[in-house]
Amino acid sequence: MSILLRAYGKTPHALILDTNILINLLSPSEYDNKDFLTLTMGSTFFGEIIIPQQVLDEWNYQKDKIDAIHYGSIDKNVSEINKFINKLPSKSGKDETDLMLKNLSKLARRSYEYNYAIRKQQIDDLIRREATIIETRNRYIDKSVIDFFIKKDSRPFFTTEGKSGKNEASDALIFFGIVDFMNKHRKDYEKAIFVSSNTNEFSERGNPTKLHSNLEDYFSELDIEFTNNLRSAFKYFELDKSKHQMDMDLFKSAKENEVYLTDDYFIPCQNKDCDNEVHINMDTWVKYNKYYYICRKCKHTWDSGDSIEDSLY
Ligand SMILES: [Zn+2]
Repeated sequence: MSILLRAYGKTPHALILDTNILINLLSPSEYDNKDFLTLTMGSTFFGEIIIPQQVLDEWNYQKDKIDAIHYGSIDKNVSEINKFINKLPSKSGKDETDLMLKNLSKLARRSYEYNYAIRKQQIDDLIRREATIIETRNRYIDKSVIDFFIKKDSRPFFTTEGKSGKNEASDALIFFGIVDFMNKHRKDYEKAIFVSSNTNEFSERGNPTKLHSNLEDYFSELDIEFTNNLRSAFKYFELDKSKHQMDMDLFKSAKENEVYLTDDYFIPCQNKDCDNEVHINMDTWVKYNKYYYICRKCKHTWDSGDSIEDSLY
């Protein structure tokens, strides 16, 4: 946990994340590779990633459902296009169009799988390796939540105003979990910021970047900032020139590592009961200096026939 930073005598910043930020990292168009790399590698230069236990529980519960949503929307787009094509008066070239659509859909799925779904594992690794998990249930937190609940005005928690009726207590547990942790450890951090993007959970109605006025005092006493976007959190940390240089390097290496998604980079899974395909570069692991393929779907693994020596010489 920021051992590097502390070893250099620097006080780390604290980046506290809500579930929706982790989930958004799996969505195309929310955070690009640069943002993602800044998060995953950034803990060595900006500080510590802090995850409330309740957030970790929600992430573990939700993360596997996200792929299905994105694959569903790809299928929907393809069938929409198909409807249009079927309305065209001339049916000539129908086979070619079908084939093209099939290929497009395959590419779109691969592109999601190898650019975004792949982040799921990377986020899990990051949490396991580097994140500080803070408790969201103890006597202080429980008492704070109840005290807040019986207040005359308990917004933004425990209200149906603009909400879908989800369990409000979980947001309150996250909030007071942060307050409890920072009461004890605020001095260990330079800057601290909590990032959550769900409107109405912690923010003022109609102003997603502003913490709800009923919560303001708790955070301002501890000098904790609030925002709804990872990029503004990085900005708040004022990552300096070295960060900019690192950005450029990361961006370059990300470009070089761009995943190739054409058919020649894929082979079918060798488990005959599995219909999945594996990427010849991305879906490999090493044992006794040999490369093995591993299927993401059924976890079947087999010898690729290549060894590390082959790729060195
Ligand atoms: Zn398989």
